[in-house]
Amino acid sequence: MSNHEIRVIGDPVLRTPATDVTDVDGALVRLCEEMFETMYEAPGIGLAAPQVGVQKRFFVYDHGEAAGVILNPRIVESDGEWVFEEGCLSVPGLSWEVVRPKTVHLVGVDLDGNELSIEADELEARLFQHELDHLDGVLLVDHLDDDQRREARRALNEMAMARTGLSGSSLPPVPLSGGPDDRSPGGGLRLP
Ligand code: ZN
Repeated sequence: MSNHEIRVIGDPVLRTPATDVTDVDGALVRLCEEMFETMYEAPGIGLAAPQVGVQKRFFVYDHGEAAGVILNPRIVESDGEWVFEEGCLSVPGLSWEVVRPKTVHLVGVDLDGNELSIEADELEARLFQHELDHLDGVLLVDHLDDDQRREARRALNEMAMARTGLSGSSLPPVPLSGGPDDRSPGGGLRLP
């Protein structure tokens, strides 16, 4: 079973909205198995197809109490507000306190074609919203407030320089695009 490279912020595939899965074949089933391996190795509790370079609307997840593959997921209802320290495998090593709805009702389809309807709250709801964002080309950094955004830009630029072995200002800044519609209290840094 092979692992996939997890795409990181700056890769345009993470900013491209994915398209619906129209049929399930052996290749898709295999890809899902590989995505589980990649997710466990990272380690993470969710991984969306665009994070391994596949522009299709599905994700895999395992948060300890439930695991699965969800194709063409949609959130049909959300409620409440919850601040939680959130990280992303595509924004490695960083996390921020982000406010999102506390409960969501998610619908989708599994690999066997069964329709799914999941009432999720707290961690599971957070996970589902995060993975759905990936399918729409939205990243965690889009949810940051101004202070968090400044901190993110600094940290990401340092990482980009470390990756290329360059120093100084010869590199273009890592773009943090998108207008945040969520405003949350300032957050600390911690590995999730
Ligand atoms: Zn993510």
